[in-house]
Amino acid sequence: MSQPSDLRMIGEGGKGLRIHDLVKAPANTPWAKAKQQSWDASEPATVYVTPEVLADGTTCSAVTVILRTKGCHWWWSSGCTFCGYFNDTRDDVTSTDLHAQWEAAKVKFDQFAEQDMVKVYTSGSLLEDREIPVDFQETVLRDCAELGKELIVESRCEQLTEEKLAWATGINPSFTVAIGLEAYDDEVLRFHVNKGFTTSSWDRAVTNLESFNLRVKTYLMFKPPFMSEVDALDHSVKWIEAVAHRSDEISVNPMNIQRGTVIDRLHRHNEYRPPWLWSLVEMIRRAHPILHPDGGSNSQGEAVSRLIVHPTAGGKVRGSHNCGSCDGEVVAAIERYAVSGDLMEFEGLTCSCQTVWANELTLERQLPLPLGLSKPRRGRVLERLRSP
Ligand code: SF4
Ligand SMILES: [Zn+2]
Repeated sequence: MSQPSDLRMIGEGGKGLRIHDLVKAPANTPWAKAKQQSWDASEPATVYVTPEVLADGTTCSAVTVILRTKGCHWWWSSGCTFCGYFNDTRDDVTSTDLHAQWEAAKVKFDQFAEQDMVKVYTSGSLLEDREIPVDFQETVLRDCAELGKELIVESRCEQLTEEKLAWATGINPSFTVAIGLEAYDDEVLRFHVNKGFTTSSWDRAVTNLESFNLRVKTYLMFKPPFMSEVDALDHSVKWIEAVAHRSDEISVNPMNIQRGTVIDRLHRHNEYRPPWLWSLVEMIRRAHPILHPDGGSNSQGEAVSRLIVHPTAGGKVRGSHNCGSCDGEVVAAIERYAVSGDLMEFEGLTCSCQTVWANELTLERQLPLPLGLSKPRRGRVLERLRSP
């Protein structure tokens, strides 16, 4: 006889469990609270330099400043299923702290003398007044305008109103706004990501950005929770096509597992494998003709948009990975493509694990299970096969 289940199903009376409850569960645990209180609010979370491409196509050095903030207002009320930023925030960060963090970043890199681009990330939205004091928003906008740096900030859609953008462009007339759209699909936004906005919010935000001549960078997520590898591949190419004409840049973020998130729980239970690096290569191959209809690269011919893929924790079990032996080479080729936009980067890349990957995609097409069939590169194969 089967035991009665305490899992409430839709239609069984009472309220069904919401994805919101799954998202919020770990945020108030003692380990999460202790971690938050351990941060020094006057030090930025990280500051580092990477190669980048300016709006006019020239390569440059870019500094990324990740600030320690109060986090994201959407996280306070709900949160996205893969977002582990709550691990890096403090509830009590003040404007003075943020100014101290910004100064520390400028001192570390000599007032950004060698960098033409500055990316300011806040684990939320820079232009959201509840998260970031307005005087600090102004400091960032003004400093970058006065230093003559190309500025990139991140934002959700709802902050990008005409009124806010009129205020911001009065201080800095030309910057880029990166929006974490994740998926151009309302079902995926609602049921896989719990994003709290829809594709039409993105459409409206982009219309406003266009009217102020601001550049748009769109983040898409490769393989959100409850999605198989093959679906992730097919969907991501469709989403790239849907946003390309309205995005100056598209940055596809392959899922990496952050502590205390829904995706972390699925991963621990062997119900989620971070994306294969081969899937990212295949996505780039399929998307390239959409972005470069003349067959060119970032430095050759007209491009509809620029595609950037940075596999965070690439090659690691918690990031996109292949078999373990080819990972380094494949990650490097994907990173090079982000700058060159040239498919030649993938010429000659091959490994025996490509067959395993291709077979998994074929199987997932034939047996479309929501959690997919991919096996993670975790533990020994023999032990996995022996386990129930
Ligand atoms: S909107 Fe961004 S920062 Fe906020 S919960 Fe979602 S992923 Fe995290
Ligand atoms: Zn391999």
